[in-house]
Amino acid sequence: MRKKTRVVKIGNMAIGGDCPIAVQSMLNVPVSDVQGNVEQAKRLESAGCQLIRVTVPTAQDAGIVAALKQAVHVPIVADIHFDYRAALACVDAGVDKIRINPGNIGSDERVGLVAQACKEHGIPIRIGVNGGSLEKDILAKYGKVTPEALVESAMYHVSLLEKHDFHDIVISIKSSNVPVMMQAYRLLSEQCDYPLHIGVTEAGTYRMGLIKSAMGIGGLLMEGIGDTLRVSLTDDPEKEVQAGYDILRAAGHFVAGPEVISCPTCGRTNIAVAQIADEVERRLRGCKKQLKVAVMGCVVNGPGEAKEADIGIAGGKDCAMLFVKGKQIRMLQGDIVGQLCAEIEKLV
Ligand code: SF4
Repeated sequence: MRKKTRVVKIGNMAIGGDCPIAVQSMLNVPVSDVQGNVEQAKRLESAGCQLIRVTVPTAQDAGIVAALKQAVHVPIVADIHFDYRAALACVDAGVDKIRINPGNIGSDERVGLVAQACKEHGIPIRIGVNGGSLEKDILAKYGKVTPEALVESAMYHVSLLEKHDFHDIVISIKSSNVPVMMQAYRLLSEQCDYPLHIGVTEAGTYRMGLIKSAMGIGGLLMEGIGDTLRVSLTDDPEKEVQAGYDILRAAGHFVAGPEVISCPTCGRTNIAVAQIADEVERRLRGCKKQLKVAVMGCVVNGPGEAKEADIGIAGGKDCAMLFVKGKQIRMLQGDIVGQLCAEIEKLV
């Protein structure tokens, strides 16, 4: 069962409560390249990204927020480190959410100014604690990055905002160590009802990043923890978005669009399963039908193994048997992918 969290509004959407779990990503074009950021944001929006984060190192860089707000409809999150003036400039530029750790911006007075400005404009703040940037005293107390240390750090930053009667808070508590990160989120979700942004930080290159994120994010989702997620990959942010949806789907959450399943192939395989499955997946991108499509290598076990699929093919000699809801319909010859996609098109 999903853990109940409070609802936090972010621009034209909301997270927490019963809201669908939102998939987000971060732009990785140099902040000085406004046009490059705008183009990447548009690509992310087309890929289904629901929240786009951009770094804003100084107040002078806040123009990027206004440029992005004009270019896309999804909420824009400004990533601020240390400089409270950058946060205030982003509020003025119309940002939808700010990621900042109040303990890092100097004085309580500065925290108060940021909290006040955000409150006036209905802008939530995400506190983002990372294993790599724990406060020195907390690190000394626990000796190393532990789940308890991460939680203590997050609650410290939270208390600085609560002191100013600010409660529009989202928290992330990331580590590159999956068991540590998972335990930290579990502990945190017991201690507060703020919505949680889940992710594995510095997860790595595409392959390892996917594995760690699928375990850490997917595992937490299956425990009912998490209101928004980011898959961190040392790769194109569009791949992060795609991976985010795939993890959500694999964890049993509703994701619009078809799911392609395919057999692992074996000595009975008659058709090029990998190529066909890849091509079907590619052609179905953007399709919103709720279907399970199976690509199986043989007619002996294929339809049986793909019982819950709505439609699929099972490879024969230079052909493929089309099956719908487990029933054999007819043999496909020639352009198998094209004919399968045409059949999918006919289904409601
Ligand atoms: S469906 Fe057929 S080809 Fe694919 S793994 Fe099973 S037995 Fe092998």
